[in-house]
This record gives sequence, C-alpha cells and structure tokens, in this order.
Amino acid sequence: MSKKLTKRTEDYSKWYNELVVKADLAENSAVRGCMVIKPYGYAIWENMQAELDKMFKETGHQNAYFPLFVPKSLFEAEEKNAEGFAKECAVVTHYRLQSDPDNPGKLRVDPEAKLEEELVVRPTSEAIIWSTYKGWIQSYRDLPLLINQWANVVRWEMRTRLFLRTAEFLWQEGHTAHATKNEAVIEAKQMQEVYAEFAENFMAMPVIKGFKSESERFAGAEETYTIEALMQDGKALQAGTSHFLGQNFAKAFDVKYTSKEGKQEYVWATSWGVSTRLIGGLIMTHSDDLGLVLPPKLAPIQVAIIPIYKNQEQLEAISEKVAEIVKELRKKGISVKYDDRDTYRPGAKFAEYELKGVPVRMAIGSRDLENNTVEVARRDTLEKQTVSQDDVVNFINNLLEEIQDNLFNKAIDFRKEHTTEVTTFDEFKKVIKNKGGFVSAHWDGTSETEERIKEYTKASIRCVPNDAKEEVGVCVFTGKPSLKRVLFAKAY
Ligand code: AMP
Repeated sequence: MSKKLTKRTEDYSKWYNELVVKADLAENSAVRGCMVIKPYGYAIWENMQAELDKMFKETGHQNAYFPLFVPKSLFEAEEKNAEGFAKECAVVTHYRLQSDPDNPGKLRVDPEAKLEEELVVRPTSEAIIWSTYKGWIQSYRDLPLLINQWANVVRWEMRTRLFLRTAEFLWQEGHTAHATKNEAVIEAKQMQEVYAEFAENFMAMPVIKGFKSESERFAGAEETYTIEALMQDGKALQAGTSHFLGQNFAKAFDVKYTSKEGKQEYVWATSWGVSTRLIGGLIMTHSDDLGLVLPPKLAPIQVAIIPIYKNQEQLEAISEKVAEIVKELRKKGISVKYDDRDTYRPGAKFAEYELKGVPVRMAIGSRDLENNTVEVARRDTLEKQTVSQDDVVNFINNLLEEIQDNLFNKAIDFRKEHTTEVTTFDEFKKVIKNKGGFVSAHWDGTSETEERIKEYTKASIRCVPNDAKEEVGVCVFTGKPSLKRVLFAKAY
C-alpha cells in the first residue's frame, strides 16, 4: 500500500480519510456508519479516557453503568428529548431469529418473538438514568448525585465520517442531580471548564467556550454549554457539550426530594458528554501531509528508538546502550518503543513513525556508539539534532514538553488568523467562502435569522462566547439591534 497521503490543500476530506486508515487508527466496518477502532486508535482513546476519568473523579463524580436498551415508554417520557432523537433511533422489535423455511440456510425474525414493548438502543441515557434516579433520590441528603458512565451509544446518522460522526460511538455521559437550580448551573459550567482544560492541556487543541443558540441546543436542555475547536480546513468542530436540563427530566420521571424544610421539590439536572469525535479533532488540529502529529501527552508511543546496524554484533552493542536509555526514559514516565525488528529497514521504520505521529524519534548507529551520541528528531517541526548520550534523557523529557506547547501555540495562531470580525453580510459571505474559520458577527437573536444565514452560507452559530463583551451593534443580516457578537462557522 502506498503510504503517501493526498495533500491537505488538494482534498482535505480525502487526506483525513486516508490518514485515519493509513495511520492504523480505524477503518470502516461491515456495518453502515460504524467503524472498527484499531489498536493504535484505541490506545489514543484509552489515554483520553484515563485523563478525563481522573478529572471527573477529582470533581467528585463516580462511574456507574446503565442498560443499552431503553423501553419506549421511558424513552418518550421527556417529550422534547424524545422528539429530538426520534429520527436517529435504532429500535429492537424482536428477540429471536429462526430458520427461514423458504430460504434454506438463512435465518429470519421469528414472528412469534415480537417484544411486547419495543426497546430503543440508547442515543443518550437521560431516560433510563432518570427513571432509575427516582428510586435513588428521596431527600436532600441524597443530593447532589454525581454519576458518569463510559459507554457506547447509537445515533442513526445519515452522513458519517470516521471518528467525527459515526452511527455508533464511544463516549462518556455525566448525569447529575441537584437540589437547586444554581447548583446545577454551576455543575454544567464546571464540566465545560473540565472539557476545555482537557482539550487545551492534553489535546493541545484550543477551544472557545460558549453557549448554544436555541436551535442548536440539546433536545430537552434549557442551556447547552459547548467547547468549539477550529480545524485546519477552517471548519469548526463541536468538541464537547454540557447541558443544564432544568427540571425537565425530574418532572418527566417524577423525581422529587424532601428539602430540609420538609417540602417536596423537583430535582435539577445536568448531563455532559465527549466522544470518540475528539480523536477526529486531534487529527485535524495538528496533523500534516506526512501523517499524524500527536501531542506527547496523548501519544501512545512518545519516543521510538531505531537502531542502525550492519551486523548482529553491532545490533547487540547498540541494544545494550539503548536498554540503559529506555530504562531511564521509563523512569520519567515516558512511553518508549525500541524497534529492533530486523524485518524492516530503518528508512521504513522512520516513515512508519512519521505517519503515526510519534512525537520523538531517536536513531542510534555504531558511529553514535563511538561518539557517545544519538540522533533525535521531532515530528512536529521535523528538526533533527545530535545529542550526547549523557544528556539524552533530560533532553527528550524537555523536548516532549516543548512539542506539546508548540502544537498548542501553532493551533492558537491558526485560530487567530482564522477569526474575522465582520459588519456587513457581504463581508460575512466573502470570509466564509474564501477564508473560512470563525466569523464574529452581530445577530438579532432570532432562530429565523440564524436559519436564513445558514441557508445562504452554510455557516451556523457555533456559540455565544462566554466572554463576549456587551457591544452595541446591528445584526449582520437584518440590521436589527444586537448587544453581542456571536461566532459563526461552517461545522463538521
Ligand atoms: P450530545 O449528547 O448531543 O450533546 O453529544 C455529546 C457529544 O458527543 C457532542 O458534543 C459531540 O462531540 C459528540 N457526538 C455527537 N454525535 C456524535 C456522533 N454521531 N459521532 C461522534 N460523536 C458525536
């Protein structure tokens, strides 16, 4: 298989799909819209999970697990949520197959085995979880209830892309219950902060924190807080969402608590989720025409070491030296792979680690042994340097930090260059067409205007930034008064 990728400027979407497959992250499966996540891709997900899980626990949450299936009567209880997700639901109607009498060797659904009540495969778990919380929450002493679940969900998406939008995806979903509105709002905002911190510190992916317009809000939410990232093709990616759900689910499932004053009150709710889409975001933020570029903090392999030798004797001498270096690197918590496979030449190994985005590559040959040196190459800038063996562990340790920072700074610069303030709709259209990125513009606050702008430009409101300043202006489309700029972009 040719390892060469389509260039990003030629066809960004093709570049992305090729990269996901060639870097061995994931592939399409026999099931429409569902992907197979391969070990290298899954290792990135595991690293993401580990960091997020730590952050959830540090903010007081516990993990639990709820069923994959939601009885239809529970699913439809919160009407707005049910209506919003209805058109994407996979539904189980039967529980048995049988031999097909008309088609030997084939199976068919057993018509006798029809479920009394259909089961919805969860597109999100508010319904099953809130029907359970009814039994868990009686008094103010049971609150807050802070639960997270790591799970798969199914949304029957019509247009799917590996990682970015799949019919089945892996995610976490937090579901919390609170005594007061204020507490629930604080929780929802806190989780937006957690997501933003994860995106920026670990993924090196800058995000805008904001809230959604009504039409982009989660079905059944009173407010949706979001983190929005900008990809290298100028399109935005909704990277994570945290919802303030009001008392909608408490009312739908009759979840009440007795307050300190002895009064019966409905419980306040939040939910929040990030998914395997983050891997798509990671790829599209940093990678280049040569392949993946991974931030060190999430890279499954941080350092690949490649011996360069002519014979067994040289290999043994090199391996002995490498063993010492590997031990010291691992002591610092750095993940290292020593690739001494003799079935591949060094050049092929270099190309493989470049394609797979390993942040640092170290090569060591017999001349290096004589000179007490190694060659260190960084994936982000492709720079190479000869380093003394005595300093190499500290050098690499610092280099990993530098790469992490460099990736973040590069992405921030890109976002700055691709965020444009406009005042007229002509400018708006021009920027969206020629440059892409975020367009900061005044909007009159109505869904109709939002819809019209989308029809004309395909750009949607990504969010009202949390830090948007009050600024007297007029809507870019209708000329009606507006007090804040919002961010528009074409989005994944
Ligand atoms: P939601 O429950 O709709 O707020 O979704 C939570 C998060 O899951 C979103 O912010 C997205 O990042 C992600 N997500 C939504 N739909 C998909 C999908 N079809 N494939 C992958 N990730 C998704």
